[in-house]
Amino acid sequence: MTETMKTSKATPTVNAAVRELRHRLTPLYGRGEAEAVIRLIFQYLKGWSTVDLIINENRVLSEYMQQKLQEIENRLLNHEPIQYITEMAYFYGMDFHVAPGVLVPRPETEELIDLIVKENKGNDLRVLDAGTGSGCIAIALSRNLPFSEVTAIDISPEALEIARKNAADLHASSIRFLEEDIFNWRPEADSFDIIVSNPPYVDESERADMEPNVLKYEPDIALFVPDSDPLRYYRRIGEVALKALKPGGRIYFEINPRHAKEMTVLMKDLGFENIRLHADIHCRQRFLSCCRSKE
Ligand code: GLN
Repeated sequence: MTETMKTSKATPTVNAAVRELRHRLTPLYGRGEAEAVIRLIFQYLKGWSTVDLIINENRVLSEYMQQKLQEIENRLLNHEPIQYITEMAYFYGMDFHVAPGVLVPRPETEELIDLIVKENKGNDLRVLDAGTGSGCIAIALSRNLPFSEVTAIDISPEALEIARKNAADLHASSIRFLEEDIFNWRPEADSFDIIVSNPPYVDESERADMEPNVLKYEPDIALFVPDSDPLRYYRRIGEVALKALKPGGRIYFEINPRHAKEMTVLMKDLGFENIRLHADIHCRQRFLSCCRSKE
């Protein structure tokens, strides 16, 4: 072997692995998020908390662990979301199982749950979640609205399988999950107090501005709407709600802030009352609520 072919490799300690990951991931994620991703990796591989990571920093990693870390690093550099790698996403204080058939739950949707929980203090509410995906909204509401009766629909059998597993794991097993296409579904009249939905709302023309991790890995069916009819899900859910909501019942939508104004017009034209827009923490008009009239 010639002198130049020799490689001097540092001892593969936890600390060295963390430094390597930080070096590779920071250009992609930025400093703060790279650190969060590194913590998630060690939590996933070793079950370690942030403190465990510090306590164990001088431990030498096995060959198996080094190989696992390399695999994960490669997948991340390929823009795969960390939540699909660990198959877990944190939402409203709970760990949800996720896979590429469902969207990764977003922090803004936690704000939607906060809004609903704050405004609905009664017991025994009947709730519908239209387009449930991983089940995160249905499960968070079922666990936070006392004695509620939650129905969740989705067109995708793959999503429903994930949602049912989450409901079982997170002790929300009373939720009724139905495989239904909202465009063909006719629920019983006057059967819900609340209808909530975070339907697909990203315009096709917004693709160019989106991150590769979303575009390459998350399901198009859960994200995109045609520019020719960006409010199609809201219109249909609104029409269903005119019958399926009890008089005085409420709708809560997550919306695309760029269509906030058209959304208020749409809901007004359909005959809803008390239409309000609510800002998310980034001060974008991300949610809309309204009521079916009492008569
Ligand atoms: N907030 C999501 C995003 O911007 C979109 C969710 C949706 O279409 N319902 O990626």
